[in-house]
Amino acid sequence: MPGRDPSGDAPLLGLLLAAGASGGYWLGDVWPGIALALAVYVGICARRVRALARWLEGNPRGVEPPALRGPLGVMGSRMKLIQRRLLEDIADGEAQVARFRESFSALRDGIVILDAARAIEWCNPAAKRLLGLRFPEDRGQQVANLLRYPGFEAFLDEGDREREFEFTIPDARALTLQLQAADFGEASTVLFVRDLSAMKRLETIRQDFVGNISHELRTPLTVIAGYVDTLADLLDDSPLINKVLGQMRQQAVRMENLLKDLLLLSQLENDDEPDHEAEESIAACAMLESIRENALTACVGERTITLACDPALRFRASRIEAESIFSNLLFNAVKYSSSGGHIAVGFGVEGDALVFSVRDDGIGIDPVHIPRLTERFYRVEKSRSAERGGTGLGLAIVKHALIRLGGDLQVESRPGVGSTFRCRFPLERLEPGVSVRSAAVG
Ligand code: ADP
Repeated sequence: MPGRDPSGDAPLLGLLLAAGASGGYWLGDVWPGIALALAVYVGICARRVRALARWLEGNPRGVEPPALRGPLGVMGSRMKLIQRRLLEDIADGEAQVARFRESFSALRDGIVILDAARAIEWCNPAAKRLLGLRFPEDRGQQVANLLRYPGFEAFLDEGDREREFEFTIPDARALTLQLQAADFGEASTVLFVRDLSAMKRLETIRQDFVGNISHELRTPLTVIAGYVDTLADLLDDSPLINKVLGQMRQQAVRMENLLKDLLLLSQLENDDEPDHEAEESIAACAMLESIRENALTACVGERTITLACDPALRFRASRIEAESIFSNLLFNAVKYSSSGGHIAVGFGVEGDALVFSVRDDGIGIDPVHIPRLTERFYRVEKSRSAERGGTGLGLAIVKHALIRLGGDLQVESRPGVGSTFRCRFPLERLEPGVSVRSAAVG
């Protein structure tokens, strides 16, 4: 192609110069003729540049560049090549985005993409359905103006992206949704929306079932236990019958304890929020003292239980929940230590928390079991727990009671050395105006 040849202008320039020089020669001076020839050549080049500029200005998708000779022709064809590659790359990118959007659109979980200013850039159909968003109408709208749920804005602003935000949509559907946020790119955020309603419904059914069945079983069990006692009074001559009735009574007590714990756990699990109405000012030392007495009475063999607690300490909690926490941990320390063991109980302010701790020098727990101890019916040694009257629900009750009181549980233990259980409550639970000494047991 002559127009694409960089040296394609040499014949033209040669011709112009020859014509200019010979014209000048005939007129008496070659130089004006050569100058005129060069001016004509510059004019031709200027026309080509204009043609190229017009082609570029006209957004020439698919239109060939003007067929030009010389270096401008080469530039034109190069530009065309670069343009074609760019267009191919853009088409590839658009196809990829379309595919991603198509796959996101097929998801049952919602996805909302927010820009740096927390305005909606894109959302999939599931997000529209679950959150009631309209798209593309809501594009560019501040998400916090559209999703006005208490705590949502704070959730978006905080840096902790491990946290999930759960809320209920206050309409007839009463959906329970869970949001997770992840930051990406410069300052964009993607929100993942999961519908937990079905799971929550099942959980409620399970909790109600356990609560109802425990409640229903308690009455017949009390009747049976009563008859066992009556029979024992009537037939107390035969050692065999006494042994059988003794075992029946023991099993009835175990079952009663199990039902009591199941009922309490199902009540605590029903709601993680504190029950402010049931809360009262509790004299912690007096409560711990009475639990200590009970534990010493119930234990097989000897134990020393020391109690470090300021008698003036009062804290706000539901009595049932506080008692459950204290007695489960104290009874466990007794259950899982041997005769002659020493147990140290403390309750007091430690730094920014109110801490209740129980340390024993009992059998200890292998670290692999510690993360699972608060699961229902999780026991390190099933036989030992059952033998000592354990229901396997004590630490699950402690965990849920602590959640409702805004506290948490820490466990340190070494097999053969002993265990320390520490419950940390927020300082706000301390009754105002009471100065207390620290009473940590380490
Ligand atoms: P259980 O009624 O069986 O005691 P818990 O939920 O109270 O149930 O405790 C779960 C398990 O944790 C127990 O079965 C026992 O294996 C272990 N455990 C709890 N407290 C202690 C402790 N102080 N020392 C050693 N093991 C413990």
